Order: sequence, then C-alpha cells, then structure tokens
Amino acid sequence: MAGKIKIFYCSECDKEDQSPHFRHHHCGNVLELIERDKKRETGNFKVVDWFSTRSSAGLVIEDESQNIRREIFMSDLFKFLKGVDLGKITLEEVKKGSAYSWKVVN
Ligand SMILES: [Zn+2]
Repeated sequence: MAGKIKIFYCSECDKEDQSPHFRHHHCGNVLELIERDKKRETGNFKVVDWFSTRSSAGLVIEDESQNIRREIFMSDLFKFLKGVDLGKITLEEVKKGSAYSWKVVN
C-alpha cells in the first residue's frame, strides 16, 4: 500500500488544510495533525499553471473530466522533460550563492 501521511485537519469544519500558514484554521479552531492513508488518483492531466514557494516549486495540473486540480513538485516532472526540444534560446552564466549554472535570458 501507499502508506500513511500526516495532514492538518479542522474538526470544526471537517476539512483538511494541507499546507496551513497558521496553526489556526480560518474559522478560528486550532488545527490538529492527523494521520491517514495516502490517497491515489489517476487521470489525464494538463498543465494549467505553476507555483513557487520558499521551499518548493512545481506545476498546477488539471483533469477537466474529473474537475480536479493538483499541485506537483518539479522534481517529479524531470522525467517528462528528457529529450524535449527547447528551440532557439539564449543562455547566460549565473551564480546563486556558490552554485554556478546558466539561466535563460530570452
Ligand atoms: Zn475550520
């Protein structure tokens, strides 16, 4: 099986809050950390947006037929990118802290 996951939950609203910014739900109730079985979903997803936070970045994908929208981490997407033709682009050297890399300038 897929195992267990720990999720914040508001017993007042009977709703989960997967990435809460505060320990209180917007109703004012204190969120509890509960453990439940991990869910799995299968669908035909299209990329509709992207997200970026201090700790992670990724894509927002959507399956219109099931009316579901999910966020997935960039690290899970790299396998889809192998062999993708990026067309003609211009790169420029960049350093982020001590990390040396290249960035796309147009
Ligand atoms: Zn609540």
